[in-house]
Amino acid sequence: MEIFTDICDFRLYIKQVRQHNKSIGFVPTMGALHQGHLELVKKSIQQNDVTVCSIFVNPTQFNNPNDLENYPRDNKTDLSLLKANNCDVVFLPSNAIMYKKNDILSLNFGYLENIMEGKFRPGHFKGVGLIVIKLFNLACPNRAYFGTKDLQQLTIVKKLTKELLYDIEIIPVQTIREPDGLAMSSRNGLLSKEERIQALDLYKALNTAKKQLIGGESVTSVLKYVQQFFTTESKLELEYFEIVNTTDLMKINEIPTSKQVSLCIAGQLGKVRLIDNMSLL
Ligand code: AMP
Repeated sequence: MEIFTDICDFRLYIKQVRQHNKSIGFVPTMGALHQGHLELVKKSIQQNDVTVCSIFVNPTQFNNPNDLENYPRDNKTDLSLLKANNCDVVFLPSNAIMYKKNDILSLNFGYLENIMEGKFRPGHFKGVGLIVIKLFNLACPNRAYFGTKDLQQLTIVKKLTKELLYDIEIIPVQTIREPDGLAMSSRNGLLSKEERIQALDLYKALNTAKKQLIGGESVTSVLKYVQQFFTTESKLELEYFEIVNTTDLMKINEIPTSKQVSLCIAGQLGKVRLIDNMSLL
């Protein structure tokens, strides 16, 4: 497995891969890897000649400095996991390489950056967009892999890929869950034993809400049910629960016949912020 920390070396390598007409699959991550990340790597290996994974805890997407500081980092374990899973290349840049002091570019994703995650993490998607563009420009992939666990991120990445005319296929990968249903996340390791049990409330609420909607209950009554569940029965502090159209993430009042609907949720447990979502289909 090749490991690059320098932009010039990485660019040269990528250039050679492309000159040999080999396809590149790209998996951007912030490290502290788990089976969810490895699923993206696996899919990329199946579909491409060369799989590149990046590990970079992107400072511009953190609106809370404590969250950035506490974000789990373990490069040594990550590298051995990637090697054991047959990843070909790892790009491991420093902050100084990815950002310069006088950088001024700022992106605007319109309504998409002000709803749900964007509402609770102002500026988050401007940072996500910036780093994805920089990494796309360096890795020059044919395909890039993103988890549906971060549905709003996936939607924004699809949008920027289209609007900036990147010739990159964005491949969504389904959320990998723990045996009890909790969505795998690098942040799960920060939960205490008690919080780990309480975290399951996100999954429970999504499951119940999905069943209610499939059973014909109205959007309004399901929204009310979930709000009440978190006020009365859960220690998790609910930030939002929304029922949206899966393609544009707009709130809906009624379930369309296409059932292209996603239930999106986020909450805080002590110092740990968790998100999850479930598709109605
Ligand atoms: P992160 O390191 O959290 O930035 O995640 C890197 C990529 O892995 C993103 O595209 C995430 O959506 C994806 N990802 C994170 N958790 C999961 C999961 N449980 N299942 C599938 N993909 C995931």
